[in-house]
Amino acid sequence: MRRNFLKYLSLTIFSSFILPLNSLFANTKKIINKNLTKKQKEIMFNEGTERPFSSDLLRESRKGFYHCANCGNKLFASTSKFDSGTGWPSFSEALPGAFKTKIDYKFGMKRTEYHCAKCGAHHGHVFNDGPTKSGKRFCNNGLCLIFKPE
Ligand SMILES: [Zn+2]
Repeated sequence: MRRNFLKYLSLTIFSSFILPLNSLFANTKKIINKNLTKKQKEIMFNEGTERPFSSDLLRESRKGFYHCANCGNKLFASTSKFDSGTGWPSFSEALPGAFKTKIDYKFGMKRTEYHCAKCGAHHGHVFNDGPTKSGKRFCNNGLCLIFKPE
């Protein structure tokens, strides 16, 4: 009786917690750009973070669009870019359907992680303290982005 209960409990925990996470990412995350560097792969497929103030894109101010470095998906318009002072390229909004999100509890903080809707690659975290009327601040690793000027 007790053994059955434990078996049932562990199955419930397994199916309600682990299975959805696995099925969400196992099918969607894939390396498309074979030329990604080791650091890019670490960020995009192992949820790493680049050093702050290390991205050349912080100084990018031309008109154009930011694309996923893995699959080329169009993610941000240059008009939504702003200087957040955090050391990572920051955007007030993403293009519609560009990303999917999930809650991340790493480092004891509740944060919303976002990843490319097309290839599943991790890009950064989105916060609700943005300076524009969207109220959003997409904090994006520069290494995950490719800028294409208009
Ligand atoms: Zn992508």
